Amino acid sequence: MTGESSSASAGTECSPVIQSKPRKTAVNHVLVILAWLILTISGLTLFINENANVIEKNSALINEAGKIRGGAQRIIKIHLSGKPVAMYLPEIEQSIDILFAHTRSANSFYGSYDEQYFTATLGSWEVLVRLIEQDAPQDEILEQSEIIWYSSNALVAHIEHQTLAYTKRFNLVTAIFFTIVLVLLFVFFVTKHVIRDKIEYGSTHDLLTGLYNRYYFQEALEQNYASSKRTGQGFALLMCDIDHFKKINDTRGHPAGDRILHELGMLLRSVTRTMDTAVRYGGEEFAILMTTNTTAECEKYAERIRHTVENHRFRGNIPVTISIGFCLYRSGMKREQIIENADKALYHAKEAGRNCVIDFDSLTV
Ligand code: GH3
Ligand code: MG
Ligand code: MG
Repeated sequence: MTGESSSASAGTECSPVIQSKPRKTAVNHVLVILAWLILTISGLTLFINENANVIEKNSALINEAGKIRGGAQRIIKIHLSGKPVAMYLPEIEQSIDILFAHTRSANSFYGSYDEQYFTATLGSWEVLVRLIEQDAPQDEILEQSEIIWYSSNALVAHIEHQTLAYTKRFNLVTAIFFTIVLVLLFVFFVTKHVIRDKIEYGSTHDLLTGLYNRYYFQEALEQNYASSKRTGQGFALLMCDIDHFKKINDTRGHPAGDRILHELGMLLRSVTRTMDTAVRYGGEEFAILMTTNTTAECEKYAERIRHTVENHRFRGNIPVTISIGFCLYRSGMKREQIIENADKALYHAKEAGRNCVIDFDSLTV
């Protein structure tokens, strides 16, 4: 089984060792969400409270404007019935004062009142008071009664309209606030995952070749030992080294050497199977942990890799070959020993003229 995805899948095979998430991370997540919720709820509570205050204030204003509207008509009625009205005037004047004071102190967010409604009501009130004081003819007073009714009614409608506009603005701001909170939460978690994936990738991979790095090799080796002990599944370690790489560097330059390492990395990723792990072990040395129980299978696989590299057309038509030494795991073999054995087999492959595969078990020394 071969394919581009093999390396990534191989990572998934061994990943439990690396990806075991500490409990602390989950606790941190919960704390962040809790802090976020507390902040959001506190902000929203303050906001709703402020909204309630504004609506309460505006209701009081509507009430005061209503007092002028109704009070003026009552005063006119009393006056026209021939009774004194002086005692009723301060009540209306007090309402006018409250309205004016509030219009001036109101800030635009709560509702910017159009002062003309207030001055129109004040103006018509002052005319009415004058007409009453001068004991003007009934027609004139009745006409003024209409004027003050319309002006005070327009004032009530205006304050109601501004209150409604404020409520709409409040709802819009609340919706925007929650959208921002949700977007920020989303961005926070996505970024956290992306960063975590990047850090995890960076700590387990070699950037030039895209293969796993030496740190991951130790984890994968442990994994192979563990599964061999648990299930009896055997494995082998293949050590590969580019032949005469120094010469390639010297004649083609270091950047060309880097390109070969990169290409070879891709090639090894494509030939390794899902359950195997390809690693950049050192400069131009690669290790492959292969799941197998037989020398024959391992040899066949190593030969296929060697052959693939030999026949691959590298950029710049640079001929590249590799030597491979491998060691099949035997029960009781220590971790350092299997590495040492594969290395020894690789050394013999070099000695044997390079571009070949040597099995440690075939060595007589
Ligand atoms: P042999 O066939 O015996 O392996 O010969 P060799 O020339 O490959 O010898 P050796 O393995 O000792 O040389 C390794 C060379 O690989 C030396 C070093 O300059 C080069 N090298 C190591 N890492 C890198 C790298 O990241 N990029 C490049 N371009 N060269 C590297
Ligand atoms: Mg070499
Ligand atoms: Mg080397």
